[in-house]
Amino acid sequence: MKELGEITLTELQRIVDKWIKEIGHGYFSPLTNMAVLTEETGEVARQMSRLYGDQTFKPGETANLADELADVVWVVAAIANQTGVDLTEALRRNLEKKTIRDLHRHEHRGAVAEEAINREIKTTDNKE
Ligand SMILES: [Mg+2]
Repeated sequence: MKELGEITLTELQRIVDKWIKEIGHGYFSPLTNMAVLTEETGEVARQMSRLYGDQTFKPGETANLADELADVVWVVAAIANQTGVDLTEALRRNLEKKTIRDLHRHEHRGAVAEEAINREIKTTDNKE
């Protein structure tokens, strides 16, 4: 396959569309792709729980978080293509919405996180 450099969301949508039409023999239905997205999101969760949570990989299993995230991005692009969503424009509007809505929303996150840690320490101390 031709080497991919940095790709824009528009290029991603084009690449996924071309692949699905030429190699994948056409799109799955939107609802099937929704199920695939759920499946792939679960695979990301599996990786996260083993890499950063309390689960461990079974013998022979390997970490592949990047690949699972790529699967999610892929199916999101496919769903966008088949539902007429321009991801570049959608992301631009979404960032604008979030920036306006959340400009001051997270200002106190540091203090809240510190409180939670202190509560956790107290709870742990009480158990010992
Ligand atoms: Mg996967």
